[in-house]
Amino acid sequence: MSAKIKQELINPPRGTTDLLPNDFLYWDYFLSVINKYAGIYGFGKIETPIMEDTDLFVRSIGETTDIVEKEMFSFATRGGDKLTLRPEGTASVARAYITNGMSKWSQPVKLFYVWPMFRYERPQAGRRRQFNQAGFEILGGGDPIFDAQIIQLCWTVFEKLKLKNIAIQINSIGDAKCRSKYRSALVDYYRPRASKLCANCRVRLAKNPLRLMDCKEEKCVLIRSSAPQTIDYLCQECHDHFKSVLEYLDEINLPYMLNPYLVRGLDYYTKTVFEFISEGDEYRQSSLGGGGRYDTLIEMLGGEPTPAVGVALGIERIVEKIKEANISLGKKVSAKVFLVQLCDLAKKKSFKLFNDLIEAGVPAMESFGRGSIKSQLRVANRLKIKNVLIIGQKEALDNTVIIRDMESGTQEVADRAKIINIIRKKK
Ligand code: AMP
Repeated sequence: MSAKIKQELINPPRGTTDLLPNDFLYWDYFLSVINKYAGIYGFGKIETPIMEDTDLFVRSIGETTDIVEKEMFSFATRGGDKLTLRPEGTASVARAYITNGMSKWSQPVKLFYVWPMFRYERPQAGRRRQFNQAGFEILGGGDPIFDAQIIQLCWTVFEKLKLKNIAIQINSIGDAKCRSKYRSALVDYYRPRASKLCANCRVRLAKNPLRLMDCKEEKCVLIRSSAPQTIDYLCQECHDHFKSVLEYLDEINLPYMLNPYLVRGLDYYTKTVFEFISEGDEYRQSSLGGGGRYDTLIEMLGGEPTPAVGVALGIERIVEKIKEANISLGKKVSAKVFLVQLCDLAKKKSFKLFNDLIEAGVPAMESFGRGSIKSQLRVANRLKIKNVLIIGQKEALDNTVIIRDMESGTQEVADRAKIINIIRKKK
């Protein structure tokens, strides 16, 4: 006798998870809203490869950012190409804009995506290694109205999802010229205080001073509170652009908060940057989405100068908020009839009846795996389906069906050929 060897279980990779049917109740709710409003606002859907040339992300996101330094899932193919699973969507969209000659399309081009992203981060609540983002990008439009429109669209999505207590934080980091002046001012401010910073911030000071704004350590937050603010270093054009974005938001009464320390970690941003924060939990993982303008990215990647603005919403975090808010998602089961069968011949007839019902557009459910009438009726009860169609041996032989009303308990026998018409008339 050979003893069965218990195999070691294989778990999903760290920081990844399965999405099960119950999760999709929430996901589909989110997706139906986002798809609807993307359409209404004129955004067309785009899909790009899940992996891209590693250089695309290094050049777009910036060499000294967390994503590029520590978080990319990069690998070499057998042929020696260096590829990376995309850690964010904007770089891929900008690449696709150039590859597909979108500068010749009517401008601006409005694109929308729902994509998985990959970042090698320390997994924790709200932070995974594979997660999903829904993103909107407006390419070929420098007008501040587009920044406001992207924010308005996200706000509409949150409103339609019935999510409350979302705050809009907004700032401007100016263009490359303003930023270089700001960076010098930051270094001047921080250098004499370097010994008081955490180890990470000392590295940031040397490599990418703007990222000093992101630190959550108490002592660094304290030092930051008197640090120079981006807004004071904007040139006239960037200043006017930002003012105009805020005026558009005022026009539609969107409640934004100016956050002078919001810089967002990626190199490609220019001018407006913004985030949507769930009020109450003010730690970083509470940001539900973020975005900004990236006027030089497409040119940096070899395209024509093309101003653009975009946003990415974190789907897992939004779905978590939907769950927490106990929002009613509507009826789960919409079947009009439930099929019950009692012997092998009846099972065949029931199988055919199910097919005919679906073809006739009558939503039906069944429990073909169960044999006893009691357990099948229990399922119909649990699903709250009012009309049950029972086929036993007798009905199978004489081509009839018993229609049972689960609410009143009454039963009638009907011809198999007439059943679809009868059911159509029932509530
Ligand atoms: P970011 O552009 O990095 O700010 O990402 C935009 C949004 O994606 C964030 O506001 C989060 O909602 C979500 N997000 C970012 N990183 C992760 C992650 N590792 N796991 C889950 N969601 C994330």
